[in-house]
Amino acid sequence: MTITVAIVGSGPSGFYTAASLLESGADVQIDIIERLPTPFGLIRGGVAPDHQTTKRVMKAYERTALAAPVRYYGNVLVGRDVSLAELRATYDAVVLAVGAPFDRPLGIPGEDKKGVYGSASFVGWYNGHPDFRDLEPDLNTTGVAIIGNGNVAIDCARVLVKTRKEMTTSDLSDHAAEAIEKSPITDVYMFGRRGPIEAKFTNVELREMGELEDCHAVVDPAQLPGAVTGEMSDRDRRLREKNLATLKEFVAIPAGARKKRVHFAFYAKPIEILGGGEVEALRLERTKVVDGRAVDTGEFFEVKCGLVIAAIGYTGEPLDGAPFDAKQGVVTNQEGRIERGLYAAGWIRRGPTGVIGTNKPDGDMVAEHIVKELAPGGKPGRAAFEALLAKKGVAPVTYPDWKTIEAAEIAAAAPGAPRRKFARVTEMLSLLGRPG
Ligand code: NAP
Repeated sequence: MTITVAIVGSGPSGFYTAASLLESGADVQIDIIERLPTPFGLIRGGVAPDHQTTKRVMKAYERTALAAPVRYYGNVLVGRDVSLAELRATYDAVVLAVGAPFDRPLGIPGEDKKGVYGSASFVGWYNGHPDFRDLEPDLNTTGVAIIGNGNVAIDCARVLVKTRKEMTTSDLSDHAAEAIEKSPITDVYMFGRRGPIEAKFTNVELREMGELEDCHAVVDPAQLPGAVTGEMSDRDRRLREKNLATLKEFVAIPAGARKKRVHFAFYAKPIEILGGGEVEALRLERTKVVDGRAVDTGEFFEVKCGLVIAAIGYTGEPLDGAPFDAKQGVVTNQEGRIERGLYAAGWIRRGPTGVIGTNKPDGDMVAEHIVKELAPGGKPGRAAFEALLAKKGVAPVTYPDWKTIEAAEIAAAAPGAPRRKFARVTEMLSLLGRPG
């Protein structure tokens, strides 16, 4: 007898959970349900378009998708097409692996002005995510302010300042590539509310900023401490020492003839976004760091910019039928277990932290709960799910359908690029001969 499992979400945590269930040796049937026609979540829609090596993990996910016990159901939105209650009535176990796809608000005046975007929408836009295809940010500005000192902030900055040539081997969406190429952007400011030691970006990502063809990394040496001090793990100390060394190297690199600049601006907390209907400037307060915390100094300054991107982290959203911790933006769970038969993995479980591989232990943990606590054979699974979809008139996109979409994307790719993404669901469905 078989344990029937529905995994909601086809990003890394969903696929790692499926792989872990397969590896457990248990008799399982696994259905992966995804709201978009296309699988792989953040690998396709979040990982930067010029970081193709990170995207290679899709090959491993594909092996999982093609394993006999696994089936993929794309373009099925849980909460609209089927409810969580219906899934729970159909499957022995339901795993929520839906990520944390929404921007956390900055909570400062002026946030509603035209030209202010959260990184979820901005990254989604340049990555061809259908939800953000029509964002069309106005890049007709010389100055951009990015708030946050994490890897997402670095991604946004790098994509804005790399040349078209540097992006040749990327899958940057055409609409974004054209807008960026036309844009007169010269100065991108990355504001950290704390200092260089506290910045969250990892060293490989930081180093890349010193190797750009037409962009100079600007650092104020007065903001760089002599050494990394304070209590922290050896691992953290090593990372911070590397970052500090890299920032010091940036100070020594001559600007040369590069036309663009990324300014690493630390100790600067956003206070207000200024302008009429549209962003004209960002007002900030200088901070100092005391015991690791940013402390206000009462000294303010402004930077002119026509675009503000808040890359300050993400949040999940509640799903009917699952307890939600609104403060943390995650489903309430104990190590991936919500209650018997309902589980969570990835960012919706632990919040938006870690790299792609961090989701693997999440998958392992959930698979272990499922195998340990569920008697096989309780609920009908796939056949009943397909009957339910048919009754509701929902025609899912299958894995072979996705391969058709993918083949068309690869065939349409510009020389050197891995794919030219469809950025609209209607285009994908029409390729499959379906009404949009
Ligand atoms: P993150 O690493 O948590 O960075 C968020 C940044 O925003 C921090 O510098 C934080 O400062 C700042 N911040 C938060 N609230 C703020 C506020 N109200 N005002 C000003 N600044 C604020 O998040 P992320 O960059 O979104 O990345 C999410 C995860 O994905 C991370 O684990 C990241 O490493 C990972 N990721 C990895 C890669 C890669 O490996 N290449 C690429 C992209 C993302 P404080 O530190 O002071 O809170």
